[in-house]
Amino acid sequence: MNAEIIAVGSELLLGQIVNSNAQFISEQLAEMGVDVYYHTSVGDNPYRLQYAIEVAKKRADLLIFTGGLGPTKDDLTKETIAKALGTTLSIDKEALVSIQSYFQKTNREMTPNNEKQALILTGAQVLKNENGMAPGMLLKKDAKAYMLLPGPPSEMRPMFHKHGKQAILNLMKKKESIYSRVLRFFGIGEAQLETELEDLIDKQTNPTIAPLAGEGEVTLRLTAKHESREIAMALLDSVEAEILNTVGEYFYGYNQDSLVDVGVNLLKERGLTLSCAESLTGGLFQAQLTSIPGASEILNGGVVCYQDEVKKKILSVKDYTLEQYSSVSGQCARELAENVRELFSSEIGISFTGVAGPDSLHGQPPGTVWIGLSMEGETTKAFRLNLAGGRNGNRMRTTKYGWHYLLKELS
Ligand code: ATP
Ligand code: MG
Repeated sequence: MNAEIIAVGSELLLGQIVNSNAQFISEQLAEMGVDVYYHTSVGDNPYRLQYAIEVAKKRADLLIFTGGLGPTKDDLTKETIAKALGTTLSIDKEALVSIQSYFQKTNREMTPNNEKQALILTGAQVLKNENGMAPGMLLKKDAKAYMLLPGPPSEMRPMFHKHGKQAILNLMKKKESIYSRVLRFFGIGEAQLETELEDLIDKQTNPTIAPLAGEGEVTLRLTAKHESREIAMALLDSVEAEILNTVGEYFYGYNQDSLVDVGVNLLKERGLTLSCAESLTGGLFQAQLTSIPGASEILNGGVVCYQDEVKKKILSVKDYTLEQYSSVSGQCARELAENVRELFSSEIGISFTGVAGPDSLHGQPPGTVWIGLSMEGETTKAFRLNLAGGRNGNRMRTTKYGWHYLLKELS
């Protein structure tokens, strides 16, 4: 089977957005053994879209469209495909109900054009949208198949993983199903992770192992194919064990987990409380922490101690420390962590101090960061980072390292 991906949207042609949907879908199809011979991008124009469909029909078995499933006038993918294939659109009751209940829940009035989102190509299989309103669909007609996916990657990607892949496997008459599991790592770069796992990644065919890097983290998506769910799970378990054997020290969670989620859960489980002294991060660590439900069980409070005066007055950092070593030092980080822990009577104190950039501070280059960690009954530690990002990237990365070290110390 071979496929053609047709991305619909004038923004693509105007250079306002990158066609990342085509890249994502191609990568997924390659993994599944479906050949992709063409990518087409076409604007929100019914004549040119119809022409693109006619061309693609002649050279591909499966046409995958993204974009233009929404409620507005320029969203015309479904209408145009219906016309090109000589078929009609009909309302999908289930989709309509879910759109109506969305409007009820959010207390907004549903306008008639929103009903349009529940229209599907007559006879198509619906691919549920769990992150938005417009459903996707798959229609088989005259020995060809047409898959329609929404434009926003946040809707399209989960839909493809959850429903699209399986629908394509069914088309290929494969009996097996696809099971994936994402392993999340922090504190190791993509290149290093790939090098450490090179042999395993190369020899592995079922499950496949696909690395992906982003926001200072690396993930590995393991994808197993098998008729039996049990056997697929066992295949995933065994490759996971091999991976963790090599790079387990950087592993922190699965699928959608974030470092903060994992950290909050662990502290809750252990019944530990935390307080924070934030210079460099200016409250960012606590803002992220408080975005997680249940944060009140573990966070006692904290201090944004940006100026040295505050570090001294509120958190009792010694004059000597600031004069001799400056605020960007392991000594200062340790005193901050220890004193904020005592001030708020917590089991754990954590501190962040350093040079966010772009300028140097106390003769130290931007990206020099110290994280202090004080735990009841243990020697207080400080960890030094040398980050290479911009100001806000460095601050963000620092909060993640905070959780990384905290999790390591607790494990
Ligand atoms: P909506 O219901 O949001 O209108 P839609 O299915 O109608 O969704 P479009 O209106 O075509 O999709 O695009 C919505 C947004 O999705 C775009 O503004 C863009 O951010 C993103 N998007 C669309 N197509 C692509 C693509 N090929 N690659 C990456 N992002 C895309
Ligand atoms: Mg739209």
